[in-house]
Amino acid sequence: MATVAFIGLGHMGNPMAANLVKAGQKVLGFDILPENLETARGNGVDVTDSAETAVAEADVVITMLPAGKHVLTVYEAVAKKARKGALFIDSSTIDVHSARNAHEIAQANGLLSVDAPVSGGIGGAAAGTLTFMVGSSAEAFAKAEPILKPMAGRIVHCGEAGNGQAAKICNNMILGISMIGVSEAFTLAEKLGLSHQALFDVASTSSGQCWSLTTYCPVPGPVATSPANNGYKPGFAAALMLKDLKLSQDAAASVGAATPLGAHAEELYAAFNSAGNEGSDFSGIVNFLRESKRD
Ligand code: NAD
Repeated sequence: MATVAFIGLGHMGNPMAANLVKAGQKVLGFDILPENLETARGNGVDVTDSAETAVAEADVVITMLPAGKHVLTVYEAVAKKARKGALFIDSSTIDVHSARNAHEIAQANGLLSVDAPVSGGIGGAAAGTLTFMVGSSAEAFAKAEPILKPMAGRIVHCGEAGNGQAAKICNNMILGISMIGVSEAFTLAEKLGLSHQALFDVASTSSGQCWSLTTYCPVPGPVATSPANNGYKPGFAAALMLKDLKLSQDAAASVGAATPLGAHAEELYAAFNSAGNEGSDFSGIVNFLRESKRD
């Protein structure tokens, strides 16, 4: 049994920590929000009064925080307090540059580290079926894999430090673009007098097939479990899609990669968010596109 410190017990962190407890790990948890600590306590996590206290006893430290600045603040605060050789796992979605800085802080303090962002959302966190995309040395990956297993459906080693975050933002750039593509096809079909079901029946078994259509169909009807049948309650909130598209565009700019559709997807999701849809599922962009005027 390992002792795991879990820092950041929000929508994702709390169910992930709960799955570690169920798997028999001793979990020490910290969050700056008292209500999230209460939820953690109810799930069998030993809550602490600071990140430093949680980390001092831990073999493994997992962070699940909003953005790169939060991760670096926590790493700078706790890295010196951790046991030498402890394994640091950051599962937040953050920019590649901050992820590599976090690895450097860990290394400078004699710690092992992996960046291990996830795909699968709150449902996957609760079910223990997240996909982890891991960037690290082979040694750190070998130590991280058994710790991640109770929270994971799939664990992919993507290469060296920062490559987990690179995989995450590339995947979510595909997702943002494909959701807009599928949504545009439905709004065009409506205007051409083609039913949602007819387009779904054709495209879901033809070359237009993709996850945004077959698993997460943005119009009500064809896929019973998609947020379109539940008032576009997330799921995956539009604010998080915009965050990830921004990360992809910052990364593209930093390495000179041409990603014109990624850039346009970011603009469209920025407009969708600004229209008051931050808390809506990202597939709700179909309604925004339907109302948009053609130039
Ligand atoms: P959240 O806001 O619910 O949770 C983040 C938690 O971090 C909050 O409880 C906050 O109080 C805590 N926190 C902030 N600063 C802290 C500090 N210094 N010390 C301790 N705790 C601190 O966000 P979430 O939805 O759980 O997402 C977490 C990360 O996972 C984000 O990077 C997000 O992009 C990523 N992610 C989210 C989803 C999703 O569907 N929600 C899916 C995949 C990835």
